Amino acid sequence: MVKKRICIIGAGAAGLCAANLCKQDFLVEVFEKQNAVGGTWIYTEKTSKDLNQPLHSSMYQNLSARKQNPIRSQTCSIGERSEEIGDHGSSKVSCRNKSSKEVMMFPDFPFPEEGPSFIHHTEVLKYLHQYADYFQLYKYIKEGVGGMISAVLGCAIHAQWDLGLGIELANSSEQLHGFGEKCRPHQPYVDGHYHPLEESFLPFPMLEASHMPPRSRPDTSVQSGHYSIPHWPMIPGLSEFPGQKLHSHDYRNNSHFEGQEVVVVGAGPSGIDIAIEIAQVAKKVILSHNKVLSSPFPSNLYLESELDCIKDNVVYFKNGNSHYADSILVCTGYQYDFPFLDPSCRIKIRDTNIVWPLYKHIINVFHPTMAFIGIPSQIPPFPFFYQQIKFFLSAIEEKMILPQESEMLQDIDDNINYLLNSGLPEHHAHKMPSPILWEYDDDISKMASIKPISQKVRELYEITSALRKKNLLSYKDHNFNE
Ligand SMILES: Cc1cc2nc3c(=O)[nH]c(=O)nc-3n(C[C@H](O)[C@H](O)[C@H](O)COP(=O)(O)OP(=O)(O)OC[C@H]3O[C@@H](n4cnc5c(N)ncnc54)[C@H](O)[C@@H]3O)c2cc1C
Repeated sequence: MVKKRICIIGAGAAGLCAANLCKQDFLVEVFEKQNAVGGTWIYTEKTSKDLNQPLHSSMYQNLSARKQNPIRSQTCSIGERSEEIGDHGSSKVSCRNKSSKEVMMFPDFPFPEEGPSFIHHTEVLKYLHQYADYFQLYKYIKEGVGGMISAVLGCAIHAQWDLGLGIELANSSEQLHGFGEKCRPHQPYVDGHYHPLEESFLPFPMLEASHMPPRSRPDTSVQSGHYSIPHWPMIPGLSEFPGQKLHSHDYRNNSHFEGQEVVVVGAGPSGIDIAIEIAQVAKKVILSHNKVLSSPFPSNLYLESELDCIKDNVVYFKNGNSHYADSILVCTGYQYDFPFLDPSCRIKIRDTNIVWPLYKHIINVFHPTMAFIGIPSQIPPFPFFYQQIKFFLSAIEEKMILPQESEMLQDIDDNINYLLNSGLPEHHAHKMPSPILWEYDDDISKMASIKPISQKVRELYEITSALRKKNLLSYKDHNFNE
């Protein structure tokens, strides 16, 4: 039987997992614009742009031993400063991942049991390289300049490597296997970090439809990541702020904040991590947020309400307080962006940052052979990717029959309406706080007749969330294997 082709865009964690799960029954081609696999886990000291292309990774360095700060003992309410209780080893805290390795691993490839549960980001990159090696995935991957997907038209794929040559994408496994040998990581670790080669991000324009050579239509799986295009909030006065201002996408370490008064905007996982890390060298850190935080914090880290406006170097908060700031660091998340998708793919990013229309947050309703893996947030990414890929495979292998287009669109509308009726804004549509994520996993697993995420992973995920809520400074010291 002739195998169907599948194009996988991106060789981060999700793309590698897709390649592994598809390789048995499909002719797999993975396209990766960077010159190595690992996606967001490829740390680089570069920021912003490289050769006119936005840098992909938002990973921060978090390696050096730092000064330690005393912590406060009390629940920190907004604008309040509470009692200090002495030194704490917070220097170790932010340099480790926010999820434990037991929750991060793919179900078919465990992390080594020995060592801490919360590991450094370089260990995750190493894990992904080992995953690619173990499952012999490099032969399917076209990376670097030639692996950048420039255009996807109604599900036909164009990458730079076949530009102008008009070659059909390989239909035989020999041809596919031919281009993978150069895909191994190049000098992955120098001084403990990965250093991408200079030419890893060459500018490459979208192709015009008329330039497209004819080709057979592959199934497409998009895993291009969504932590690369910073979302900047609309804050009056921010653009005129005379001090240093940057987005967490460009934050690498705390060295630029020594002795400063710094306002960190946003208390998502990165905002909190970064604020704690900066507090180790800064004179004072103000964390502006709209959450309920009940954890101890370093003695020089203060909590404030949402930002109101900025005038010169003074930041005004909605609770009426104001603080001087040398620097403002914005940790307000990212925007979905798929610049390579032609309008014929009929995927829209709504103003509310929803990728529409995706059935079960995965399948392009108008082109059901195109899937997006890893769109939701507040999830355990690696096991979650595995589930979504299995769901997509069930659909394209016709083990599961998808509903009619109108029913899929109705399902998406119903989800958004449910959110709005629960008093949540539309931009929460892809957020999956527990227990929603487990209900979702049960739902797609039942539909696709696949096993849901294991009970053990679910329990560890919940325990981590509870530990984190209780003490943001110490939860990463927990070892699930002791
Ligand atoms: C700072 C930070 C900390 C995090 N910490 C954790 C944590 O502790 N635990 C956890 O589980 N998760 C964490 N995450 C989430 C992390 O993003 C996911 O775990 C996961 O690695 C995302 O994988 P992905 O494959 O979806 O995307 P990515 O890793 O972003 O990979 C996408 C790939 O697609 C490629 N690509 C993009 N466009 C194109 C194109 N046009 N053509 C070809 N290739 C393209 C990119 O180069 C990239 O390699 C963190 C994320 C960030 C940013």
